[in-house]
Amino acid sequence: HAGITFDHVRKEYPDGTVAVEDLSLEVTPGEILCLVGPSGCGKSTTLRMVNRLVEPTSGTITVDGADVMAQDVVELRRSIGYVIQHVGLFPHRTVAQNVATVPGLLKWEKDRTAARVEELLALVGLPQETYGDRYPHELSGGERQRVGVARALAVEPPVLLMDEPFGAVDPQRRRSLQQEFRDLQRSLGLTVMMVTHDIREAVILADRIAVFSEGGTLEQLGSSEEVAQS
Ligand code: ADP
Ligand code: ADP
Repeated sequence: HAGITFDHVRKEYPDGTVAVEDLSLEVTPGEILCLVGPSGCGKSTTLRMVNRLVEPTSGTITVDGADVMAQDVVELRRSIGYVIQHVGLFPHRTVAQNVATVPGLLKWEKDRTAARVEELLALVGLPQETYGDRYPHELSGGERQRVGVARALAVEPPVLLMDEPFGAVDPQRRRSLQQEFRDLQRSLGLTVMMVTHDIREAVILADRIAVFSEGGTLEQLGSSEEVAQS
């Protein structure tokens, strides 16, 4: 399973904003690392440099030992799942068609795609018979996030990036969705880097927590127990 490393990474946007300052950090294969801290402290920027939605100004980021900047960006993104708050499902495609997006781009055989979609929908608790033919507007917020997770996992990426993935889910459902996600992550051995502003969510989900402070510096890194106590 793949890990992620940051070695002296800095990001300065063209307008002079320094979003991330000298970040060195390792995400261990198979762990959930949560990034927490006040708004504007560089969490999303850090996440988005891994799949090159943002390019670092200096320093090196590797996924599974390979420098992300040295890879083909399309290949890189296929090996990294990405889930964001408003998951951006394609509104005119059914749940099954949304999940089949990347296999479709990769021109998988129909039978292989159909089997994979069925398996993924079962995995996220949205059985194909009931949910496969629905459209995104026919789902709740939590169900849409599940489809987003299924879509992100379609080609079995070893690494998943999540930016406030449960932020749009109502509070009653959020807790059980977090627990289900945690079980899923364990069973697949996924390496997860996740941004949240909700410290309780980080404590529930994370193996380790990275606390960022203003100016994009890493202030603390520890197990969720250590960070929760401080
Ligand atoms: P967080 O996710 O912790 O809220 P971000 O990584 O989104 O923080 O932003 C870090 C800093 O970089 C903020 O000051 C933000 O305004 C700034 N920033 C983010 N994206 C851009 C951009 N595209 N251009 C200029 N500044 C940006
Ligand atoms: P929106 O801004 O409307 O939410 P985006 O264009 O950012 O939509 O993304 C749509 C969906 O495509 C996202 O929810 C995400 O799952 C997927 N996606 C976007 N960018 C990437 C990427 N770099 N790698 C993998 N998936 C991505």
